[in-house]
Amino acid sequence: MTIARPTDLPSALDALTALPGAHLLAGGTDLQVEVNLGHRRPEAVVALRRVVDLQGIDITPDTLDLGALTTYAQVEAELAEAAPGLATAARTVGSPQIRNAGTIGGNLGTGSPAGDTLPWLVAMDASVRLSGPDGSRDVPVESFVTGPKRTDLAPGEVIHRVLVPRVDGPQHVAKVGPRTAMAIAIASVAVVLDTVGRRVRVGLGSVGPTPLRAREAERMISEAIDWSNLRAPPTDITRFGDLCAAAASPITDHRSTADYRRHAVGVIAARALERCLHR
Ligand SMILES: Cc1cc2nc3c(=O)[nH]c(=O)nc-3n(C[C@H](O)[C@H](O)[C@H](O)COP(=O)(O)OP(=O)(O)OC[C@H]3O[C@@H](n4cnc5c(N)ncnc54)[C@H](O)[C@@H]3O)c2cc1C
Repeated sequence: MTIARPTDLPSALDALTALPGAHLLAGGTDLQVEVNLGHRRPEAVVALRRVVDLQGIDITPDTLDLGALTTYAQVEAELAEAAPGLATAARTVGSPQIRNAGTIGGNLGTGSPAGDTLPWLVAMDASVRLSGPDGSRDVPVESFVTGPKRTDLAPGEVIHRVLVPRVDGPQHVAKVGPRTAMAIAIASVAVVLDTVGRRVRVGLGSVGPTPLRAREAERMISEAIDWSNLRAPPTDITRFGDLCAAAASPITDHRSTADYRRHAVGVIAARALERCLHR
């Protein structure tokens, strides 16, 4: 196996050109599992961990600019205030070892609908900056994941940064799994309140081929909330959960039935909204 270990973005892109078909490696917590199971047999690997351009967190009043190599442990330590929903999602990922190694770029690169950062990223209208031999392009996370474990990443490109426009207001994420720790989500949700724009945004995970927005639920509850005191009638909160469940398009697999997934996502969506409203 050929392994390239570039230290900056131009040499990473050069390595990808020199080794077409090479697998990108960040924390290895998804890729190495695939290798161990024999699902992938890379002949060449471009290891990204030393690429400085993919590191670092930049917090401005308007934007969060996260290097693709940002780990869950960094998110927990550095973004608890600026991105409380993402920090909560990060705390639910795997074990401390996985959170020290696993990266946000790797979660996006895998493109699993169960990826725990994805509901929050779509609810925040986040984009990924993809860099390749012809330059960079920004793609909304909602369209970056194109199907189960499929993404818009083109050959020769890397996920460079994750760009998140900031919003004022409470946010909450919630996840249902077979147990509390070390569990892949059966259903997950991120609810974000934009108190300036007076809008609610919702991302759903594990209940469709890609992370989904629940736009009808968003419209209904945005109109129902009394934005002066962040309260909503209980019947509207229940209706919000029902509309989130209706927006889901889950499958039955070895982890859950489609019916349970749909039910669960509605329950946790209503709960996450209540957390935001009753803060
Ligand atoms: C025990 C265990 C528990 C886990 N628990 C959870 C969990 O609770 N929630 C959850 O969401 N995930 C979980 N995971 C999955 C995994 O930890 C995450 O998806 C993690 O974010 C992957 O990041 P990584 O850096 O390790 O990616 P890697 O394994 O290095 O890469 C994953 C994929 O992304 C690609 N990639 C990586 N970086 C880039 C980049 N910069 N540009 C383009 N492509 C890139 C790789 O080529 C590969 O296809 C778990 C995994 C394990 C082994």
